[in-house]
Amino acid sequence: MIWRRFFLGLSALLLAACATSDGGGPATPATVAPVTILISLDGFRPDYLDRGITPALSELAADGVRASMRPSFPSVTFPNHYTLVTGLHPGRHGLVNNRMEDPQRPGAVFTLQDRNVASDEIWWADGTPIWVTAERQGVRTGTMFWPGSEYEIHGQRPSRWRNFDQSLPGFARTDVLLSWLDVPEAERPRFFTLYFDLVDTAGHRFGPDALETNAAIAEVDAAIGRLVAGLNARGYAGRVNFVIAADHGMAPQAADAIIELDPRISPQQAHVLWDGQVAAVQPLPGQEAAVEQALIGRGEHGECWRKSELPARFDYSEHRRIPAIVCLADTGWRYRSTQLQQYATPALGGHGWDPQAPEMAAVFIANGPAFRRGATLPSFENVSVYPLLARLIGVTPEPNQGDPADTGAALAH
Ligand SMILES: [Zn+2]
Repeated sequence: MIWRRFFLGLSALLLAACATSDGGGPATPATVAPVTILISLDGFRPDYLDRGITPALSELAADGVRASMRPSFPSVTFPNHYTLVTGLHPGRHGLVNNRMEDPQRPGAVFTLQDRNVASDEIWWADGTPIWVTAERQGVRTGTMFWPGSEYEIHGQRPSRWRNFDQSLPGFARTDVLLSWLDVPEAERPRFFTLYFDLVDTAGHRFGPDALETNAAIAEVDAAIGRLVAGLNARGYAGRVNFVIAADHGMAPQAADAIIELDPRISPQQAHVLWDGQVAAVQPLPGQEAAVEQALIGRGEHGECWRKSELPARFDYSEHRRIPAIVCLADTGWRYRSTQLQQYATPALGGHGWDPQAPEMAAVFIANGPAFRRGATLPSFENVSVYPLLARLIGVTPEPNQGDPADTGAALAH
C-alpha cells in the first residue's frame, strides 16, 4: 500500500513536471500505454530489404520477424489495403478493384480520385475495418492515411484521421502520427495506421530495379527511421508493436506486351469495365454467347473466365461488383481496350498479376514486445494480418478469412 502510494505520488510529480516543462509535449516514459502501428509500404517487395539501402526497416526485421506475403486477387492497391484491415478477400469485402461500378448505383464509377463517389458507404459496407471494430470496443484509433479511413463506415470514423494528400512528404506523415501521441493519455490512440505511396509510384514509373525506385525505398526507410526515433524520444521504446506490410509487389512490364481487346469485342457487344493486368467485360443483353466465344479460355498471353469459373484460390466469384467475364494477363502483359484510356503515361513497372507470381509478393515485418526476434515465417496470405492486429490491439475480431496460425510462430508467447 505504501509503495502504491509512493508510485502514485511519483507519477503525479512526473506528470506535473511534464505539464510545466513544455506544455503538453511528449508523454513521460512511466505513463505510456503500449501502441500498435500498422504501416503500409505500397508496392514494397520483400527482396527490397536485401538491397542494402534500408537501415531502419532492416533493423526492425532483424530484431523482429519477416516474411514474404501473398496478396489477394486482384493484386492492386485498394482491394488489398481493405483486405489487410478486414481479413476478407476482395471478392468478399467488395473493394473488387481500384475502379468499380455497382448495379445498385447505376451511373456511379468508383475511382481513387473521386471522393464524392467513394464517400458513399455502399462501397465499404461489406467489410468492417479494424479501426471501426476497435473504436466500437473502446480503443481509440488514428489513421495517418489508409484507403477507406477518411470515410464514415458503419457510422464510425477513427478518432483521428486525415484526407489523403499524396503531396504530403513521408516525414510530414510521420510527424502527424507522432503529434497524435502528444495529447493527454485519455485522448491518445492505441492503434495507428501510416501509409507511404512513394515506392509504388517510383516502381510504376521506372520499374522495380531502377535507381529511382531505390531512391524511393531509401526515402521511405528514412521516414520509418524518423518514426522510430520520435517514438523513442516519447518513451515508447519497447512499447510499440509494428506491423509493416505492403499491398502487392511490382514487376517490370514492356511497352509492347499488350493484348488488344478491340479486335475481339466491339463496343456494340460488350462494356469493358477494366483493362490492364486484369480486364473485366460485361456483355450487352443478347451478346453473351458471342462475347464468351471471343474471350473465354486460355489465350497466348492471358486467360479469361466466366465469373463463376475463376480459379477457387482467387475467391472472386461472388460479389455483385465483379463483372461477367474476368481476364488475367500473364506476368508482364496487359490487356488494352479503347473503351478505356489508361495508357497516357508509359509505365515500366506494374502489378495486378497472379498473387502467386513471385514478383507480386509483398513485404511483411513485425517488431515489438509481442514478437520473437530474428525469425522468418513461411509465406502466408495477407488475410491473416487482420486476426494478428485484433490480437495485438486486444479486440474481438469480426468474422474473417484469416488464419491466426499463419502468424502464430511470430509471437513471443
Ligand atoms: Zn498499391
